[in-house]
Amino acid sequence: MHRFFYFLTVAAFFVSCATVPITGRKQLAVVPNSQIIPMSFDNYQQVLKESKLSSNATQTALIKKVGKNIQSAVEQYMKDNNLSSELAGYSWEFNLIESEQVNAWCMPGGKVAFYTGILPICKEEAGIAVVMGHEVAHAIASHGRERMSQGLVQQLGGIALSEAIKTKPEETQALFHTAYAIGTQYGAMLPYSRLHETEADKLGLIFMAMAGYDPHEAPKLWERMKALSGGASVPEFMSTHPSNDSRIKELNEYMPEALKYYKK
Ligand SMILES: [Zn+2]
Repeated sequence: MHRFFYFLTVAAFFVSCATVPITGRKQLAVVPNSQIIPMSFDNYQQVLKESKLSSNATQTALIKKVGKNIQSAVEQYMKDNNLSSELAGYSWEFNLIESEQVNAWCMPGGKVAFYTGILPICKEEAGIAVVMGHEVAHAIASHGRERMSQGLVQQLGGIALSEAIKTKPEETQALFHTAYAIGTQYGAMLPYSRLHETEADKLGLIFMAMAGYDPHEAPKLWERMKALSGGASVPEFMSTHPSNDSRIKELNEYMPEALKYYKK
């Protein structure tokens, strides 16, 4: 059985694959963005409807400001590398949700949510830029699409997404929620793989540097995360984003590359 699914995955990989910007890694992409983005927008609206937005105008404005700076950096990077078409259908939005959850994410199409619970770890604007850059990087690297593609191949036999939405709407929604790890209200969050985390760290470092934030703030933020993960209760974000010495070491190793993009 597994061998069969492996075969399907490999076959689908050669039929439809994409390339991650910056790292150049080839990834599975049986699902087009044009079908994922509308699902993303629906789910984002749903999350906003079920959540309470922060009433702190200063903090909300800061999230939107950092978000726009990272957005501009991403758009610039994609333009410089003839990849602007990858941003087709994007409609960026940055919201701050009132919640003790230590969490932040970006759904495909540029829909970002920060939870007030993560702000003390971010500490200041540059720390917000670290998390923003990292989460936006997951979207730009299409990590969710890759996971959703794998899910479609392995669980639904590789049928097209448009077909899956029609014939298996619940399974398709569940796949989306798992692939995008968008919150406990939808069940268990599936952490991104180490490969996806490393990739998001690298892309995030470059995006924050291009946006004018010192990339040296990134290892500092992950140090603060690491300090928290030793506590009695491990917050959401830490379970999906394990911070440890090897992560911090890799960030520092990538620093010279990121600094080439740093605009003071
Ligand atoms: Zn991540």
